[in-house]
Amino acid sequence: MSELKLPTFADVVAASERIAGVAHATPVKTSRTLNEALGAEVFFKCENMQRMGAFKFRGGYNALARFTPEQRKAGVVAFSSGNHAQAIALSARLLGVPATIVMPHDAPAAKIAATKGYGAQVVIYDRYQEDREQIGRDLAAKHGLTLIPPYDHADVIAGQGTAAKELFEEVGALDFVFAPLGGGGLLSGTALATRALSPAARLYGVEPEAGNDGQQSLRSGSIVHIDTPKTIADGAQTQHLGNLTFPIIKRDVDDILTASDEQLRAEMRFFAERMKMVVEPTGCLGLAAARAMKAQLQGKRVGIIISGGNVDIPRYTELLA
Ligand SMILES: *Cc1c(COP(=O)(O)O)cnc(C)c1O
Repeated sequence: MSELKLPTFADVVAASERIAGVAHATPVKTSRTLNEALGAEVFFKCENMQRMGAFKFRGGYNALARFTPEQRKAGVVAFSSGNHAQAIALSARLLGVPATIVMPHDAPAAKIAATKGYGAQVVIYDRYQEDREQIGRDLAAKHGLTLIPPYDHADVIAGQGTAAKELFEEVGALDFVFAPLGGGGLLSGTALATRALSPAARLYGVEPEAGNDGQQSLRSGSIVHIDTPKTIADGAQTQHLGNLTFPIIKRDVDDILTASDEQLRAEMRFFAERMKMVVEPTGCLGLAAARAMKAQLQGKRVGIIISGGNVDIPRYTELLA
């Protein structure tokens, strides 16, 4: 296999310049109640308040902003049922790039509508009969579109790393950092920023208990594939880490932890009641793991990335009940 060129912190810095004034520099929030409960000082980086409701806008915009004039003219294709679809659709609209998004037939109607609302062409496929990656590749080949994957892409990783970069620039070095983990775009980008700006911090990725492929991969030393996990954390229902994200995670991340759906529900409730914030289940992974590590966090400064806030209201109330 040829050497993969991994993105570096310099790429994160370049990404932050590219997205400046377009992506929100999201707020960092704290909770006195939580700090007292944990005996720690916790800083939340609130990507639930990012444009389109999740950090994925950072990586999507960064990737599209690097297109050549030819790529911009031909367009972009992405496959996703969730936040990546909306991130690419919105970035494409802002940059005047035609976008095609491949979505499963059973994707929530609200998500399909939101993606169309950003002006993207939506191609529906049957999740059980068809291979979305093949559909994406066919569309790319037939129409000369550039395929932007949700996590295993250097520009996507660099863009996702800008959230942690902003966090350290605002609050300084931290003792612990927790980030949700799906395919690893957010965690590997966070790792690049952490090792540059807060090198001594202990950095943890957190994935749903039902889909701990990342944990298995880190422990076995090679990428483990699993079936699509059953979990309410729909932003982290990935089946495997990426060829770019895994080497960075292996090199720079201290460990991968898990959280149960029950823990995620409890944290959704905490964010709603105590911090007046809507956080989607996947966005609660970091806090769930931090709370479980309370004993080690005494007197420490802790950063937690809240990755997103996109959840349908009926679903949200059902999960909170
Ligand atoms: C995509 C996503 C994740 C997981 O990100 P990866 O880069 O795939 O690890 C976590 N939370 C939310 C809200 C997401 O949309």
